Amino acid sequence: MIGLDRAIDFLTEPRAPTHIVQWYARRMRFPASAPHTNEPPDLCLTFDVEQDLGSLGTPEYSETCRPFLEWLAERTAADGWRTTLFVQGSIVSTFAARLRELAPAHDIGLHGYYHELWGRPLWFTRQPGTPVPVRHERLGQGICAFDDAGLARPCLWRSPNLVSDDATDRMIADAGFTLDSSAPSFRGALPLIRRHGSVVEIPVSANPRPRIRRRYGVPTWARYDLLNTPNLLGFSDSELRATIDTILACQDAAGCRRHLVVLAHPWEFADIRHPGCGRENLDRLIERVEFVRAEFNAHLCALRDLVLPASVSGR
Ligand SMILES: [Zn+2]
Repeated sequence: MIGLDRAIDFLTEPRAPTHIVQWYARRMRFPASAPHTNEPPDLCLTFDVEQDLGSLGTPEYSETCRPFLEWLAERTAADGWRTTLFVQGSIVSTFAARLRELAPAHDIGLHGYYHELWGRPLWFTRQPGTPVPVRHERLGQGICAFDDAGLARPCLWRSPNLVSDDATDRMIADAGFTLDSSAPSFRGALPLIRRHGSVVEIPVSANPRPRIRRRYGVPTWARYDLLNTPNLLGFSDSELRATIDTILACQDAAGCRRHLVVLAHPWEFADIRHPGCGRENLDRLIERVEFVRAEFNAHLCALRDLVLPASVSGR
């Protein structure tokens, strides 16, 4: 069954060359030199506070979260940063005091319980899916963890690895969540705010125009550049500017409120043995946030601040 699920996941993979017609349709629809208005966008930094290395780690190790949350508390005091944290349920109690301290200025949502998958397994990883009854149990545990920690009941949700399905959508709506940031941006989910019943979907922002990789001139893969830590910190100024321009032009065309949702993790800002991670990334993050603020006149805010009637486009 797991093999079949993975095969289906691969066959429906929009980045694979079986979807080449859609790639080029997207490139026509979202030109690289997209004109845009000068209206300032909102900039939402979102941090998935989870076990170190996410699905590559284990729930027993979340050593990088404490120093990161301490740093975030300093930023909040110094510069009034307002961000969104999606916290893995099983580690909420460990950081309860710090999360309570951050809660007035920051949104705090739930990011699974043990960083399990909340939909079909991905064809390119070994992590299994989670049966629906187990998900029910984990969701209840996650909500209880917030209550036990003295935090308000969570109403923001992000599925680990941006893997979600209809059963998860129904489950979180029934549990009273009102904002979901689980859309698969790495697979080209458009950077738009949409309402589905009682839940507003706000994906991590990704360039809607795929970057096409070729081998010997033959197109082999499409990539949708996310506003994640490697790209935000690693892109040149012009690459970042172009990516943001295309995202904002897509939102302008859809009549959607201009916004940028960045995805990052505490472990990316710690000196651990993993490519691209390091404490120096904290300074680089501040630098890039200042760059986006200066270039686009962006306003730093939490995800929930985007949920105003005027910002939601229909489907
Ligand atoms: Zn995660």
